[in-house]
Amino acid sequence: MDDLTTYAENTWCPGCGNFGLFNAFKKAVGVLEEKGIPREKIIISAGIGCHGKIFDYLKLSGLYSIHGRSMATVQGIKIANPDLKVVAFAGDGDAFGEGMAHMIFAAKRNADITVIVHDNGVYGLTTGQFTPTSDKGFKGPSSPKGSVEEPLNPLAMMLEAGATFVARGYPVKLKHLADLMAQAVEHEGFSFLDVLQPCVSFNNTYQKHNKLVEILDHVPQSYEDAMKIAKRTDKLPLGVIYRKDQPAFHKALSGDWSPIRDRMSRQERIKKIKSLLLH
Ligand code: SF4
Repeated sequence: MDDLTTYAENTWCPGCGNFGLFNAFKKAVGVLEEKGIPREKIIISAGIGCHGKIFDYLKLSGLYSIHGRSMATVQGIKIANPDLKVVAFAGDGDAFGEGMAHMIFAAKRNADITVIVHDNGVYGLTTGQFTPTSDKGFKGPSSPKGSVEEPLNPLAMMLEAGATFVARGYPVKLKHLADLMAQAVEHEGFSFLDVLQPCVSFNNTYQKHNKLVEILDHVPQSYEDAMKIAKRTDKLPLGVIYRKDQPAFHKALSGDWSPIRDRMSRQERIKKIKSLLLH
């Protein structure tokens, strides 16, 4: 066992794509430490679903969340202590079903958080119901005749919502995925990483994705180019699809003020509020 793995028994199915995500994130933490971001400053959260177990397995500080709320949880942590790097793990049902509004508004306000979506196109923990990213025709307990809905396109949706860093990774390309994770955490502003995560038990996409993935050789230069790449269906491009510099929410709101560092007593707060009200 390495020093980023907890003693918790791992209960993911053998072959699950979550193992690649887990190993890639540990590599990314190593890369970030080399760049001067100690693991004590990397705070994690997770929602509900198979992905959420990563919270139990990673030896990092954090706060477990409820379904679809990990991105809201880390926004609160970031605002309270802007010195931290905060990462929300979420499933595709978690992020684009239960947590959709949090995703859109976190991207819109450019909250300085990283959201890593374990996108397997299925609710695996509850044995195979279709999710917002399941393919049309997907068969499961809640769609026995095949889903009649078109899947959402997470990359296009996050671009449209205002995300300033959008990327896609694949656990089979582990080193590439680890590099994307490190870049996402380093980015100042809302970073979104969609990971094509095969679920060997309910939506085994290894063969399909092995054929379709293609690593981009450059970051697209414009929003329009990024959107075109996000919408490709002939191939599944991997890499950073969009990156833009824009003040992060907490900086736009309060500059360099840090509630933890610049803590005020109750009396000071009352005085401050009174002075604000009188002007
Ligand atoms: Fe992984 Fe699917 Fe098993 Fe969950 S059900 S652990 S996502 S293979």
